[in-house]
Amino acid sequence: METVKPTIIPRAAHPISRSMVSPNALRVLYKLRDQGFIAYLVGGCVRDLLLGREPKDFDVVTDATPGQLKRLFRNCRLVGRRFRLAHIHFQDELIEVATFRALEADYGAEETVGGGETLPPSPDAGAPSRSPRHLKSDEGMVLRDNVFGNPREDAMRRDFTVNALFYNIADFSLIDYAGGMADLQAGVIRTIGDPLVRFTEDPVRMLRAVRFAAMLGLDVEPETWQAILELAPTISRATPPRLFDEMLKLLLLGEGEKSYQLLRKTGLFAPLFPRFNEWLDTETDGFPHTRVSHALDRIDLLVQQGESVAPPLFLALVFGEYLEESATAFRQGGAPPQEALNQAVAGWLGELAPTVLVPNRIGMQVRDILASQQRFLKMPGKRPQSFLGRPGFPIALAYLRLRAEMGEGGSEVWSWWDRYSRENAIDLPSAGAVGKESAPSTGKRRRRRRRKPRTGAAAPQ
Ligand code: ATP
Ligand code: MG
Repeated sequence: METVKPTIIPRAAHPISRSMVSPNALRVLYKLRDQGFIAYLVGGCVRDLLLGREPKDFDVVTDATPGQLKRLFRNCRLVGRRFRLAHIHFQDELIEVATFRALEADYGAEETVGGGETLPPSPDAGAPSRSPRHLKSDEGMVLRDNVFGNPREDAMRRDFTVNALFYNIADFSLIDYAGGMADLQAGVIRTIGDPLVRFTEDPVRMLRAVRFAAMLGLDVEPETWQAILELAPTISRATPPRLFDEMLKLLLLGEGEKSYQLLRKTGLFAPLFPRFNEWLDTETDGFPHTRVSHALDRIDLLVQQGESVAPPLFLALVFGEYLEESATAFRQGGAPPQEALNQAVAGWLGELAPTVLVPNRIGMQVRDILASQQRFLKMPGKRPQSFLGRPGFPIALAYLRLRAEMGEGGSEVWSWWDRYSRENAIDLPSAGAVGKESAPSTGKRRRRRRRKPRTGAAAPQ
């Protein structure tokens, strides 16, 4: 990869000051520095600070090994099977510290299989051709890697130039191996290295490109964009649970509508949701399906106001019309209403499962939300207490409310509930109706909860 010597941007020439960095992250950086280690902030936090945005979290890279980190920090836990990371726990913050890595890391690769095949259990068994420490499938996807590296290698294995900037605690400078600073100034998302290679290694990077473009208001650089257009159909090679996670991050973090438009434009949407995509392209009674856009706009507004929207509510809003149409078809075929809805939801979960795996528990919540709507319609005038106490009530009511606010009917019923709650001093749930635990997972949470690998090639440690 091109750049060997990094560009160093001294403190006076960039806007990041220590007051913008979380005190806990600073503690970690100082301690490493004082012990003679290299310590950098890296990734999303540096990018976001340069863009004047508040980072979600602060990640650190260092030349200290996981074992050294464990000895250095009492509040440290080592996590990750493929590549050990240190989680340094503070009261209400987690700082992730990684040792510099070479080549590709494990970015979901352990969950990623080539073209749907099962990977051979060992490198001798067939397709992968490199050393056991660095495996690629026949299609060039990175399957496993656990090699420590130097700062340059660590920067160059990252996905986009703007995600590869280091903030050096030794002299408060920025270290730029990949040209990220210029790209940030120009407002572009560009892969490090050949985009065709980088998207083949990990197709999920295409979704990340869309997410950063939408969230940060950046443009996808033309060659990177072309590569996405070309490789979009390969997105389904990433594993279905990971794609579900990514989908939530894309659509549920405040710029869902923009992300959705970009997904459609790049051709990423169709391979992720083939049947739904076809349905969206058809019209019902001469009306194009615009509910997805409306729903995402409404969800974005909530998120931008600081509410987090629960995944089942999000799915019900996005897929509700599609599911209702399918339930109607089952009813016309003779199924009773409840049964028709069950069949529609089961069919939908089954149809998504090969690409975007909606966990069953969440699928059932979607069904409950839709099933409750019938009950809501019958409710005014009756005794609502039994309904109020049910666990699924808040989220079902949030759905009723949002649909009413989107002008899709049910506003009289919603008004009735609104009035009833005020007259009886009942606190109705907020429009997002969420528990924090069901908000989209961040990379960190995903790593902590990482599923067992589904193939024989994972977890060399
Ligand atoms: P966010 O604000 O959404 O957290 P982020 O850039 O911090 O954005 P993370 O998923 O937290 O994204 O990843 C942290 C860093 O790890 C990225 O900035 C990037 O340098 C690197 N990274 C993450 N995923 C990949 C990937 N699939 N391929 C290569 N590098 C990746
Ligand atoms: Mg991050």
